Amino acid sequence: MVAVLAAVFGSLIGSFLNVVVFRVPAGRSVVSPPSACPACGAGIRSFDNIPVVSWLVLRGRCRDCGAPISARYPSVELVTALGFAAVALWRLPSLEAAIASESAARIAGSLLELAAYLFLAAVSIALALIDLDTHRLPDRIVLPAYVVGGGLLTVVAVLNADGWGLLRALIGAAAAFLFYLVLGLVKPGAMGFGDVKLAGLLGLYLGWVGWSALVIGIFGGFIVGGILALVLLAARRVSVGGGIPFGPSMLAGAWIGLVAGPAIWNGYLAFAGLA
Ligand SMILES: [Zn+2]
Repeated sequence: MVAVLAAVFGSLIGSFLNVVVFRVPAGRSVVSPPSACPACGAGIRSFDNIPVVSWLVLRGRCRDCGAPISARYPSVELVTALGFAAVALWRLPSLEAAIASESAARIAGSLLELAAYLFLAAVSIALALIDLDTHRLPDRIVLPAYVVGGGLLTVVAVLNADGWGLLRALIGAAAAFLFYLVLGLVKPGAMGFGDVKLAGLLGLYLGWVGWSALVIGIFGGFIVGGILALVLLAARRVSVGGGIPFGPSMLAGAWIGLVAGPAIWNGYLAFAGLA
């Protein structure tokens, strides 16, 4: 039930992300003008704007001129729907524990924490696509995300009286930002400043979850990036040093750290005979 609600909400957000990914790199407004067919300019009717469903009903063609509509649009809506459902299911035990505690503050905190992660999921999908398209991570998305993500986590920290969590988040943001900044300075060209600013945002969330999430989330980006580079090299899709954007790997690594970081860390300690 929760997963279905989250998926429906996610598909609507995914529809908006299509607009963001298309317009933000071009410096255009994401609210006006309303969406139109790029081929004939006819406005998209509201009943043709239902995520995934409309594309299937129209068989991927504009209702007015019949020009093909890229399968990318429903794909982004579907991926966002599945991502939101996964985040909701991941947060469900924490939400249920808050409801069982019958503390209004804890329930509100748990819901706002869910909102903070859903927001990060939406930002992650938009940034990954824009980085793949344009090799950029626009300030117009990354910088407001610090305010929204940091603001939501601050309110959660106040509601849960979790000052340590907030402090960890700030240390995580500073540590990840500085780590990437040093990498960028030591090896110019390897890291763009966009990557440095994204690292701070991811460090904020990872630090919030815990130290193990922070370590695994940051290094996970390099492992994902390394595997991706090897696969693409083997498939001869890129040449050595032929710019693969690093943002998507950073984002994937961070999500591994957020969701599985503590479990991976404990598993590693057990494996190494340290715990
Ligand atoms: Zn058209």
